[in-house]
Amino acid sequence: MTAKMDKLIREGRTFFITSHIDPDGDAIGSAFALAWFLEDLDRQATVYLKDTVPYRYDFLPKPRGLVHTIPDREAYDTVFVLDCGSFFRVGDGHERIAAMGPVVNIDHHDTNDRFGRVNLVDTDASSTGEIIYRILRSMKADLNHNIAVNLYTAVFTDTGSLRYDNASAAAFRICEEMVRAGVDPGRVAAMIYESHPKERFLLLGEVLRTLRTFGDDRIAVANVTEEMFRATGTNREFTDGFVEYIKQIRGVEVAVLLREIGPESYKISMRGKGTVDVAAVCNGFGGGGHKNAAGCRIEGAISEVEKKLLDAMGIK
Ligand code: 5GP
Ligand code: MN
Repeated sequence: MTAKMDKLIREGRTFFITSHIDPDGDAIGSAFALAWFLEDLDRQATVYLKDTVPYRYDFLPKPRGLVHTIPDREAYDTVFVLDCGSFFRVGDGHERIAAMGPVVNIDHHDTNDRFGRVNLVDTDASSTGEIIYRILRSMKADLNHNIAVNLYTAVFTDTGSLRYDNASAAAFRICEEMVRAGVDPGRVAAMIYESHPKERFLLLGEVLRTLRTFGDDRIAVANVTEEMFRATGTNREFTDGFVEYIKQIRGVEVAVLLREIGPESYKISMRGKGTVDVAAVCNGFGGGGHKNAAGCRIEGAISEVEKKLLDAMGIK
């Protein structure tokens, strides 16, 4: 498979790279690392992310071609879609993007629906960053600092700081190699985990007040409302990681965060500890993800949404 990538990259001149809405460290790090590599090869690389880079990832070296609106240019030699289980995760306008060139789907989600012309989907990979790393390695890329810090961040964040089930030996090895290449792990961790505006904690206080548990305390649920964002001067970017906090409760098997995204409309983030396949639960609502980390959208009043989720998990 990497031989196919090698050919596409060596023979192509113009590349479009995109990833999912609400981009996380893997989406951003993978897209930026690939773009830096292509730029180093004197290729033209446009990186389109529908949403802006969250504050915690703003320290990552940005490739020249980063944009947040879909460019007018209509054709590219290859369109890379990274870290997306389904094409629509790219956000509004994904149909236009699909028409810009042959789509290469590079991903590691269990629920990936193979939407690309070429599908480089490895559900055993810790992260999309790991797959990008393999492509770059096989092409003998110079893993300079711009590439290394982006790859490190992709792998490190998607493995929950090398703590989750997907923190494989390969994930550790890649992080080690990036540290050898000059990445400062203390600085990266400080930027990602210790550079929050205080408003995040005002919001967290509000969210934790909504904490409730079900099924003999095995399911923990909390929610975020538009009103909380208004009251604390925050937005969805500030909620990143909240669901992981409530997962830390002893005995909790599934943590759920319900984020209001419109009238009677919720974005669900679920995290498991291995006993419940949360990707399967989210898949039932048109979403997806991994066994222990998944998401979806559900319409309805909050009590209905909550009930639908609990029903799907067989909780009375
Ligand atoms: P998060 O809860 O951090 O938004 O997402 C957790 C995991 O589930 C990530 O791997 C993310 O890509 C995936 N995910 C979140 N929301 C959706 C969704 O609506 N559809 C699909 N297919 N995957 C999702
Ligand atoms: Mn990922």
